[in-house]
Amino acid sequence: MMENTADANTPLPPASLSDTSSDTATAHADAPDASNRLEDEFLAIISHELRSPLAAIKGYAATLRRQGHRIGRAERDEFLQAIDEASDRLELLISRMMQLSRLEAGALMPHPVPVDSVQLIREALAAAEYRWGSYPSLAPSHTYTFEMPSQAPMPTVLADLRLQREVLDIVLENTVKYSPGGGLVRVTLDTDGAMLTIGIRDQGIGMSSDHLERIFDRFYRVDARLTREVGGVGLGLAICKRIMALQGGAIWAESEPGVGSTFYMTLPLAQPSDERQ
Ligand code: ADP
Repeated sequence: MMENTADANTPLPPASLSDTSSDTATAHADAPDASNRLEDEFLAIISHELRSPLAAIKGYAATLRRQGHRIGRAERDEFLQAIDEASDRLELLISRMMQLSRLEAGALMPHPVPVDSVQLIREALAAAEYRWGSYPSLAPSHTYTFEMPSQAPMPTVLADLRLQREVLDIVLENTVKYSPGGGLVRVTLDTDGAMLTIGIRDQGIGMSSDHLERIFDRFYRVDARLTREVGGVGLGLAICKRIMALQGGAIWAESEPGVGSTFYMTLPLAQPSDERQ
């Protein structure tokens, strides 16, 4: 089931706020596939997702301004942190919404060039290792190890370097966000002579099969509680899906609850051959 988490991303503001809540995000999950209705629901979701963090910012800021003299230092820090987090969320939401709408409108088109797939993935893994190798805001003791096969095939693929790197960054970030106990993130590479398949496997919370297609829908999230803890706006995989399709590839997932997930991405080889490489 889709969960709406926008207003739950920060603790409840102390000031009374105008009612910005709405059931529309939940309704979206079960909406029939009629394009005008989807459009209305998309607009309703956007307005809800934008208003919730804004309401938190306004509530905390108003309380600090009106009652600042009565608020202790610790509480003040907590309010400021909530404002900071809600602002980050708004920023992410707006940039991801802009990117998705540009992709959907054809205003952001990939320009595929021959790319060394192994180098591309190694760079993404190195950045992930640097950023997430230990992820203190989740839990200081959790570590994440990123691993690439040493004997990986090295085909040159046709990809837009920047956009493909963004896809890898989103998928790698998710392996960490949805592995609250830490663990190993393993990459596999495979070719069939026409396409390269990249597999990224984690040892995280996984998900049941009924979510596997819907996680690529806009704003679809499996677990509101975890999303609240780690942040996220439910647009990353929708962006990935569009970028992969526009490059002539695809993205999909396999998963087992409590065991982990594997995300697969395919890209066309720059020089297809009949032989398996
Ligand atoms: P976000 O992470 O911002 O919520 P995404 O579009 O990247 O949005 O992912 C959509 C949802 O798919 C997530 O909220 C989560 O429920 C699920 N998901 C994505 N990656 C993983 C993963 N590696 N393991 C488990 N669940 C995942």
